[in-house]
Amino acid sequence: MDWKNLGLIKMLLIGLFLCLCSIAAAEKHHAKTHTFKTIPVTDNLWMLQGKGGNIAILTGEQGILMVDDDYKVMSDALKKQIQHYGGLDKLTYIINTHWHGDHTEGNLSLGNHAQIIAHDSVRSRLLSSQEIKLFNMVSEPYPEEALPNVTYLQAMKLYMNGEEVSIVHYPGGHTDGDSIVFFKQANVVHMGDHHFSGFFPFVDIEHGGNVLTMAANVKLILAIIDEQTKVIPGHGPLSTKADLQDFYDMLLGTSAEVQKMSEQGLTLKQIQEKGLSDRWQSWTDGFLSTDVWIGILYGSLQKK
Ligand SMILES: [Zn+2]
Repeated sequence: MDWKNLGLIKMLLIGLFLCLCSIAAAEKHHAKTHTFKTIPVTDNLWMLQGKGGNIAILTGEQGILMVDDDYKVMSDALKKQIQHYGGLDKLTYIINTHWHGDHTEGNLSLGNHAQIIAHDSVRSRLLSSQEIKLFNMVSEPYPEEALPNVTYLQAMKLYMNGEEVSIVHYPGGHTDGDSIVFFKQANVVHMGDHHFSGFFPFVDIEHGGNVLTMAANVKLILAIIDEQTKVIPGHGPLSTKADLQDFYDMLLGTSAEVQKMSEQGLTLKQIQEKGLSDRWQSWTDGFLSTDVWIGILYGSLQKK
């Protein structure tokens, strides 16, 4: 072997070592984030915050009802969490508020343990592959056991653990198959992705969502909840009616600004360059940039 080859081998080994180190570092980072934060909502209702959408868990003698089940990578942590509430044998119902993977991928490993309930359109979306171009994301078709096996069109009720659970479809808001889940006795609502508490939301225009319809839906919900209602947003901290009202005001306020600029003849690019008024600055911290939000608003207004 000559020196030239030895140098090359050395370089390859160093490269391999660095690569293994970065994999180990990435794993360590992931392991850290694969846990849930548990927030008590009432005596028998919890909110779990993991990596994706917020989860609600209702417990009691008659079993466990869960709203949404986070990403696939969170499933082991979620199963561990369920042990605290009586274990997988107690898991009876999973409600999917809509088809997005950050709310439904847990179906893949929990589907065999529970009935999965969702709007009709969630099942049809999950039967085939779906693409979200904005995030460059493709969702593969779900196997039978991970699909919602109880579906509904407008509304349905479940009675469990002394609680009346209403699952109501609000059309054309975040997607084309959104459910809002009301817990009557507890006075709690799980908003699905009709509420991102404190930051600009993603609205899936490609799959039937629209900011203006979403605002109209939120207005209807504001009219039926009260100051004591605990609001579980799809993303963000446990909230109140006032927080949902702020979110509604932001939806209306930002769409009015974009509409005005659009009526003045500005193109999307020009509106993005001009930006929104300072009032909405804090909403950009957390998830979507103002530019992306303006794009979603512009797209929604075009479709109306
Ligand atoms: Zn979503």
